This record gives sequence, structure tokens and C-alpha cells, in this order.
Amino acid sequence: MPHPLRITNHAATASLVIDWDDGRRQQLSHLALRRACRCADCLALAQRTGQGPAPAADIRLDTIAPVGQYGIQLVFSDGHDRGIYPWPFLSGLG
Ligand SMILES: [Zn+2]
Repeated sequence: MPHPLRITNHAATASLVIDWDDGRRQQLSHLALRRACRCADCLALAQRTGQGPAPAADIRLDTIAPVGQYGIQLVFSDGHDRGIYPWPFLSGLG
């Protein structure tokens, strides 16, 4: 299972940069991360409408909180804070 060595939130470029322990550097936009949310609310929305979350283009990631050794919880500027992003899921994005 991939594990991050370092996670950096770049406000200027609105992106999250993850350095993985396999040497890979991944850059994910805040918008893409918000769109990728798989919390119960966003999954229900996707089931109901056939589409995932559609945040404003200027959405920003405000806070990153660790979730054990397993992943991170992301809090976005629209107040959405329910998304848990496990390492394997994050690693497979973008
Ligand atoms: Zn969500």
C-alpha cells in the first residue's frame, strides 16, 4: 500500500502535492479533490443525479486532517468536511 512521505497544500496553485514512498510525486487540484469526494452525501448525490459533486471552479482546500495511518480528511472552502481520502484512493487519482 502506498504511503505518503510528505503532503503539501499549495494555496498559490490550489493544489495538493503528495510525495509517495515509491518516489512518485502527485499533484492534485483542489477542484479535482472536491469532485472526487466519496463521502455518503456525495455518493448519494451521484446515485440520484448520475453525477458527482460540481463545486465552483474557485473551490479551495482549507484543512487537511490525518485519519489514523490510513488517509486524510479534507475540509473545503464550501464547508464540505465529510470526505475521507484513503491512501490507495488518493494514489489512484489524477
Ligand atoms: Zn462528499
